Amino acid sequence: YEQKGRSLEEIVKRRRELLLPNLSISYDKPIKFVRGEGVWLIDDRGRAYLDCFNNVCHIGHAHPAVVEAMAKQAATLNTNTRYLHDNIVAYAERLTATMPGKLSVAGFVNSGSEANSLALRLMRAHTGRENAIVLDWAYHGTTQELIDISPYKFQRRGGKGQKPHVHVAPVPDSYHAPADWPVEEHGTRFAESVGELIAMMRAKGEAPAFFMAESIPSIAGQVFLPDGYLQQVYRMVREAGGVCIADEVQVGFGRVGSRWWAFETQGVVPDIVTMGKPIGDGHPLAAVVTTRDIADSFNNGMEYFNTFGGNPVSCAVGLAVLDVIEGDDLRRNALEVGNYLMAGFRAMQERFEAIGDVRGMGLFLGIELVEDRKNKAPATDFARAVSNGARQRGVLIGTEGPHDNVLKMRPPMIFSRRDADHLLAVLEETFAAVTARG
Ligand code: PMP
Repeated sequence: YEQKGRSLEEIVKRRRELLLPNLSISYDKPIKFVRGEGVWLIDDRGRAYLDCFNNVCHIGHAHPAVVEAMAKQAATLNTNTRYLHDNIVAYAERLTATMPGKLSVAGFVNSGSEANSLALRLMRAHTGRENAIVLDWAYHGTTQELIDISPYKFQRRGGKGQKPHVHVAPVPDSYHAPADWPVEEHGTRFAESVGELIAMMRAKGEAPAFFMAESIPSIAGQVFLPDGYLQQVYRMVREAGGVCIADEVQVGFGRVGSRWWAFETQGVVPDIVTMGKPIGDGHPLAAVVTTRDIADSFNNGMEYFNTFGGNPVSCAVGLAVLDVIEGDDLRRNALEVGNYLMAGFRAMQERFEAIGDVRGMGLFLGIELVEDRKNKAPATDFARAVSNGARQRGVLIGTEGPHDNVLKMRPPMIFSRRDADHLLAVLEETFAAVTARG
């Protein structure tokens, strides 16, 4: 295989010299990809890797429908939203049609961070308040105001700690809930901790402005909210005059299979929903959808303008992604293949002691690795060894969670049963090898 371009070593060196030094690189031995196609990524030596991690290539790498829509529109017109164009209206119609309740007004931006920042502006315009309630270990974006509400960042190295307006509720993680909590009460018990934060604010004569959470906390380790949790939290936050924001940046667009949006699996309708990553299959597009009421509060005399947001090319891409999800019935595929993977993971759990918990919905999946199933101590090294071992065998997965001991998988929505068999076989072989090594 003819090697083209710069060597891996040279790219690493030039990155160090030319780019911000805290841009990280995946894996101890970096990979240079030169091409993507469907569920596959091809490296500079022509080796294909099964991509089970990259959330963004939602309908597969270099999907022809997306490439065609993008190229056609780019060859015709790309300009800003101050001129009329069909695409932005067509896309807003299609996107809001996937949303329940009063979620009927869209704003288009260019990244998940920008979507969350816009959500905060909407929230402030509507409530006139600032007090945040977020979940521990959450990440909501890269701007300073989002770092400030992201415990994953502000509590860790390089972070500046917790700001007075930020209130952190524990991750509603059923697997690590106190042993004396009955399972059917997990939703209520975890929701009570949000109630306590609201009571603390009230005691100081304050009130929450908003509650923001991922509908499935991912950075906290692929944690699935216990039944009833969001219903109770949303009720308490709204009773105190706050708004409820669902961050669907990782989990949206049918990934959970049964529904378009992961919040729907909790039986709630947020006041603001933010979307990113999968929305454009890799094209930098993101969005906020909210209610007419909140949109009208935001309309306070100041113009809202976004140079690239909602441009004809981005909206053409967004439309193509929705066409493919709907036309190819990818939500059903996510559900079926996800269930098949879950059954495979459960069977593996019977063979490998290290698998403490398996959890998933559609194609959003996690396997928590433990030293010991009783005390649930994190098996961080084991998880790293599995991730590296899978990579050596040509399968890309990630690790996540406070102890980096949760294997994280978010394969493209086109993931087939054959791809699932491939992933399961590689995991089986890797678990056996890592277990044998001890
Ligand atoms: N919210 C969540 C849940 C995310 O995972 C991310 C990105 N990792 C963001 C927001 C920010 O998105 P972006 O990187 O596109 O700005």
